[in-house]
Amino acid sequence: MQELLFALWIVAIIAPLVWAWSQKASIALAMTLSLLFGFIVQIIWRIFLDFGELNELRIRLFLVPALVTDGHIHTLVTSGFVHSNPLHVLGNILIIALVGIPLEDRLGRSRWLISYMIGLLGGSIAWTILNLGSITPALGASGAAFGILGAYLCGWPNDEVFFPLILIRKWPVQFIALFYFGFEIYKAWQVYGLNEISNIGHIAHFGGFILAYGTLPLLKKGIEWEGDYELEEIPQEHPFDGVDDLVERLRSEGEFIETRQAWLEEIADRAKCPICSGALQVKKMKVRCVSESSHVRWP
Ligand SMILES: [Zn+2]
Repeated sequence: MQELLFALWIVAIIAPLVWAWSQKASIALAMTLSLLFGFIVQIIWRIFLDFGELNELRIRLFLVPALVTDGHIHTLVTSGFVHSNPLHVLGNILIIALVGIPLEDRLGRSRWLISYMIGLLGGSIAWTILNLGSITPALGASGAAFGILGAYLCGWPNDEVFFPLILIRKWPVQFIALFYFGFEIYKAWQVYGLNEISNIGHIAHFGGFILAYGTLPLLKKGIEWEGDYELEEIPQEHPFDGVDDLVERLRSEGEFIETRQAWLEEIADRAKCPICSGALQVKKMKVRCVSESSHVRWP
């Protein structure tokens, strides 16, 4: 029973991510589903398992600094997929969905996932180092959520995204990040008092913020390099039907990587492959055929 319910948890975490990856759907959205489904399985554990069995699974997944240095290295990752209560999971999902999905629009799916894992690992590693030898478990995706804020703040601080702060409206990313940090520090202070050593451990999730912030320029450089052709190199001639207007927009507005990507994707959405009439996609800033990349590669 215990192993079955453990396997169910693994499926709940992995299935949304595999589904999104294969369907080219939002990986940030899939991550929120993973965290939510994983937490629902945790509730099922509490119903069906006795205290001893439950504890075994917790030790397997939670981040316990004393055990990490003893070989439980996988918990640096697994602890980011378990939560302690509904508010805990909802708080993290809120950031990952509302700030993470717009960040994925900027970064693309694979770079977003890399940045997410960097934030998660940064939070876990900082936690382990600052609480070295501690047997108090840590869990939750806060490090990754901090990482999303850090990466976004570094790359596009003036972007505005919908977020419920007093009012549900668009707020600048820098404002949301500041508010979130303030709130985290306030929470830590409420729980421990600022003079306690454990307070340092509590804010260790800033490690996720710092690492994701610091590595974002590298990820961003990768995008710019892939789409690194001059605006003048985009020809007026193109092999597609019915997208003259979009090509014109691309040629006039595609100077920056984000607008270039957006107009290329519009073209890929509306046009068909001139060889096989199949669907098109944008890869490395070029419009390509989904089924056979040698069919078309433009510009
Ligand atoms: Zn084709």
